[in-house]
Amino acid sequence: MKASTLTSIAKEHGSPIYVYDAEKIESQYNRLTNAFKNVGSLRINYAVKALSNVNILSLMHSLGAGLDTVSIQEVKLGLYAGVPAEMIIFTPNGVSIEEIEEAATLGVQINIDNLSVLEQFGNKHPKVPVCIRINPHVMAGGNANISVGHIDSKFGISIHQLPHIVRIVDNTGMRINGIHMHTGSDILDIDVFLHAAEILFNTAHYFSDLEFLDFGSGFKVPYHPNDIETNIEELGEKLGDRFAAFCQDYGKELTLTFEPGKFLVSESGYFLSKVNVVKQTTSTVFAQVNSGFNHLIRPMLYGAQHHIENISNSKGRERFYSVVGYICETDTFANNRRINEISEGDILCFHNAGAYCFSMASNYNARFRPAEILWHEGEAKLIRKEEQFDDLLHNQVVLDMAAVKV
Ligand SMILES: *Cc1c(COP(=O)(O)O)cnc(C)c1O
Repeated sequence: MKASTLTSIAKEHGSPIYVYDAEKIESQYNRLTNAFKNVGSLRINYAVKALSNVNILSLMHSLGAGLDTVSIQEVKLGLYAGVPAEMIIFTPNGVSIEEIEEAATLGVQINIDNLSVLEQFGNKHPKVPVCIRINPHVMAGGNANISVGHIDSKFGISIHQLPHIVRIVDNTGMRINGIHMHTGSDILDIDVFLHAAEILFNTAHYFSDLEFLDFGSGFKVPYHPNDIETNIEELGEKLGDRFAAFCQDYGKELTLTFEPGKFLVSESGYFLSKVNVVKQTTSTVFAQVNSGFNHLIRPMLYGAQHHIENISNSKGRERFYSVVGYICETDTFANNRRINEISEGDILCFHNAGAYCFSMASNYNARFRPAEILWHEGEAKLIRKEEQFDDLLHNQVVLDMAAVKV
C-alpha cells in the first residue's frame, strides 16, 4: 500500500492501528493456487489463528478457501463468518475430548494428534471420519520455537507409532479420511519438505479410505528487504508431480490440502504507530512509540524482524534508532535500525503485520487493543473498533465490599 494512503488512514482513524490490504491477500491466494495448478483437487484452508477477524474469514471464503482452526472458538468464528462446516478442519493439540466432540457435532472435519484421544474417539464415534496428524520428525524450519515437526515437539503422533495407530483403527472400526502433517513455520529447503511428504505418502498406504492429504504449512514470506522466502512455484511443481504419481499408486484421486496462515496474510498487514518520544541516551537514540508487545509481540517472542518505515519522512536522511514501546517492560521492536530521521509525532509503519500480530494482542498495562482496517476496493473499511475503557471492565465482577470503591 502507498505510504500516503496509510498516512491518511492514521490521520482519520488514529493510531496505533492495523491496516490489511485485501488485494494483497487475494494475490497471495492466487499465487498459491497457481503454483499448484497441476494438482487435480487442491484445497487451501486458511489458518485462522494468524488473523481471525471475521471479515478476513469471509474474504478467504469468497476466494475459495476453507479454514484451519485450532480451538472450538475459532471453529465458531468460522461458522459465524459463513464458512460451511465441511470446509473447516479442526486441528487442535492437547484439548479435551469434549471439545473435539463438540466440533464433530458442528460437522467440521476432526484432526486428532494423539493416541489417547484417537482411541477414545474411535470407541465412542466409530462412524465419524477422522484425520490423523502425524509427526514425521523432520525439521523444516530454522527456529526451534516455530518448528513443530522435530523429535522433541509436542505436536502430532510420532511416525514411529504407526503400528499403534493402525491397531487402534482396526480395533475400533473407525474411518480415517485424511493424513496431516505440519512440520514448522519456515520451509527454506524444499527437499527437506519433500522428504517429509514422502513419509506422509508411505503412511497413507496403511489407510484405504483416504480423501485428502494435508501438508500443513510453513511457507516463509520475506520479512525485510533482501529476506529469503519459500520458492512456492518450485514446490508446487515438484510436489504436484509427486502427488499425481502417488494418487495413481493409491488408486484414487485425493485432495491435496495446505493450511497457510502467514503466507496469505502476513504481507497484507501494516501496523501504524505514533512516535511519542525521541530519547537520546549515552548509547543510542530511542524512538518510543504508542504501542508495545501488547499490540505486536513477535519481535520479543520470536526475535522476528519487522521492517519499520517512517512514513512521515520517507525522504529524510537515515539514522540509527532503537524502536521501543511504552510498556513497563523491555519491549524492543528493533535495535540499531536504520530509519529515515524520526521526529516526535511521526508515524512508523511496521510491515508484515498481518499474521500473528493482532491475534496475539493483549490488554497488558490496561491498554486498549487497537482498531483494524480492511483496505478493500479503494476504501478504508473499519472492521474492528479500538477498545474503550468499558472493555477493560467488561467481565470484571465488582465485589460489594466496603473496601472496594468504584
Ligand atoms: C499455525 C498453523 C498453521 C499455519 O502456519 P503458518 O506458518 O502461519 O502458515 C497451519 N497448520 C497448523 C496446524 C498450525 O498450527
